[in-house]
Order: sequence, then C-alpha cells, then structure tokens
Amino acid sequence: MGVFELTNRVIYFKARPKGMPDESNFEIREENLPVLNEGDVLIRSLYLSVDPYMRGRMSDAKSYAEPYKVGEPFKGGIVGKIIESKNDRFQEGQYVEGILNWAEYNVTDGKGVRKINPEWGPVATALHVLGMPGLTGYFGLMYIGQPKEGETVVVSGASGAVGTVVGQIAKLKGCRVVGIAGGDDKCAFLTDELGFDAAINYKTTENLRQALKEVCPNGVDVYFDNVGGAVSDAVMSRINFQSRTIICGQISQYNLEKPELGPRVAGQLLTTSSLMKGFIVSDYAEHNKEAIIQLSQWVREGKIQYRENVVEGFENTVEAFLGLFRGDNIGKQLVKVAEE
Ligand code: NAP
Repeated sequence: MGVFELTNRVIYFKARPKGMPDESNFEIREENLPVLNEGDVLIRSLYLSVDPYMRGRMSDAKSYAEPYKVGEPFKGGIVGKIIESKNDRFQEGQYVEGILNWAEYNVTDGKGVRKINPEWGPVATALHVLGMPGLTGYFGLMYIGQPKEGETVVVSGASGAVGTVVGQIAKLKGCRVVGIAGGDDKCAFLTDELGFDAAINYKTTENLRQALKEVCPNGVDVYFDNVGGAVSDAVMSRINFQSRTIICGQISQYNLEKPELGPRVAGQLLTTSSLMKGFIVSDYAEHNKEAIIQLSQWVREGKIQYRENVVEGFENTVEAFLGLFRGDNIGKQLVKVAEE
C-alpha cells in the first residue's frame, strides 16, 4: 500500500501528574502512518477504553504494571477493525481487541491482539463485560469471595464497569446484594435495573455505618472493594465471622499525594476469622476462557445486563478518562472513535 495518506491522531503522555491528572499531562499529535512491514496489521480504532488503572501507570512508583514512559504514546484497551493485513493470523474486516496506542490507527505486529467473536455480543463489550473489567469482577467474586446462597455481598464502586458485573453475579448466586455508589441516579440504576437489593449513595449519606446496618441486617459476608478509603472503613465495621474482603481497586486513593491513614483492620480480621485479599485480573489468566464463556452466556440470556457511557470523538478521550475520577460514568466509560 505504500505510505498512507491517512493522518493519524495519537495521544502522547506528556508529563507525570502530581495529584489529580489534567489535560496538560497529555498531548494530541498528528502524524503520518508508517508503512506496513511483513507480519504487520493496520487497525482502525472504533472504541477506546478509559480505565482507572491507567492512573497508576502514570506514576513511576513500582507497581504490577510498568509505568507509562513520558514522551511515548499513551496506551489502553482498544476495539478496532483490521483495515489491512500482512499477517496470516488476521484478515481484513475482522474485529480485534488489544492494548494499543491511544490513536485513531495502529500499525502493529499483532502480538497481544485478540480476535473478537462478534457472535458473543456487540464488539464494544470486549472492553467491559466480556473483557478485562468483566473478568475482574468474575474472578474476584468467584475465586476469592466465593459467595454462598443467602449471604450478604456489598460492592463499592457499584455502578461502574466492574461493580455492575460483581453485583449481578452475586444475585445469580442467590445473595443479598448491596451497592455503594456516588449518586441517586446510580443507586436507582442498581436497584431498579440491575436487581440489587439496596444501594447507598455515599456522597449524601451522613452516617454510612448506620446506613449499612439498616440494609445489611445480617452483617456483611463478602465485601468487593473497588474504592477504599472512608467507604471501606464503614463496610469493614460490619463484617461477619469468616467474611471475605476482595481488594480489587482503591480509586479514592489514586490521586492523593499522601496516603490516607485509616483504622487498623487487623484486629477485626482476627476476631472474625476473616480473609482480606488483593488480586490482579491477570493472576487468573489461565481461567480467561472459562470466564468469558460463562459471562457471554449470562449476557445472551439477559441474566447480566450492562450499560455503556459513550463519549463521542477521539479528541474527547482525555476528558472521558478524567471523568472517571469525578464519577461521570454509569456503567462502562468508552470513547467512540469511528463507526463500525
Ligand atoms: P468504574 O467504576 O467504571 O469508574 C470509576 C468510578 O469510581 C467512578 O464512576 C466513580 O463512581 C468511582 N470513584 C471515582 N473517584 C472516587 C472516589 N474518590 N471515591 C469513591 N469512588 C470513586 O471503573 P472500573 O473500571 O469498574 O474499576 C473499578 C475499580 O476496580 C477501580 O478501582 C479499578 O482500579 C479497579 N480494577 C482493578 C482491577 C484488578 O485487576 N485488580 C482490574 C480492573 C479494575 P462514584 O460516582 O460511585 O464515585
């Protein structure tokens, strides 16, 4: 095909943030696309995923994922379409998902790029319920939480990509499910549309412990923690004998310049013989196939529902990412870059 006439917009990581990130940490540049070598594919981005974990990679502190390098393109989950292929594994027109540059087009050798089976659901679901956030909810709840019928499961960050999956699986397992989220509209979505038994708006509830006591009369058996901080302190005060707390995320802490001090929970874990365990979705990668098959079946049967919060336009990607930390999204936050 030679040198592409196409101009490609790419978002670069410009500077590490201190505290809350903003637009100045990023830069959009226009570039020409490189020529495809043997083994390469050209992918047109359709949907970009913005995810809270990206905030961690913007810091150079040691973590499970390598820090983003300043001066390089920002990377994230992308669903796209193969426009041209010089790689036997991919054909033009196929839909794919992978961690790629935040760009309108990517030229890649295809390593780490997976084909999406469009029969499993709309292609964007590969970035949420049938992708990384869905797997996160499934593994954390099923492998660590091990919910049993009749138990009470509390999930924080309940109306987001992970939380909505967790709460609905817990309902399928016969549990009482309580969500904690930051808005009355979010709480109504959880109870009225997703079938949660109760939901608490942590932003307007003065006494979270008391509110939890009312909606969890039998205490908390499983706590799926997406947020940490004061919300989790309140939930931990209600845990039962042999409870399981799953540390999935701590979004309330990601933009703090100094870590917050909280209550010491070790005594409570001891006296209730409880478990608290952190995990990373990739810890369970060998079970990805089993989990995707199960999740896609539940989605097809209407047992798991999802909502997408879609921002239109590549140029609005950074704003959509920053919105995660303001709680702009109900369900999975996506950026639509092009029509399928
Ligand atoms: P999400 O819930 O779809 O979006 C983020 C939500 O977090 C916001 O809508 C907001 O909702 C809430 N939030 C933002 N700032 C907050 C604060 N200061 N205090 C309390 N809540 C706050 O995101 P997601 O993709 O599903 O991720 C949820 C959590 O799981 C994140 O902590 C993420 O880092 C973690 N995660 C972990 C893994 C893993 O492998 N362990 C994988 C994926 C995600 P409200 O309006 O309710 O505040």
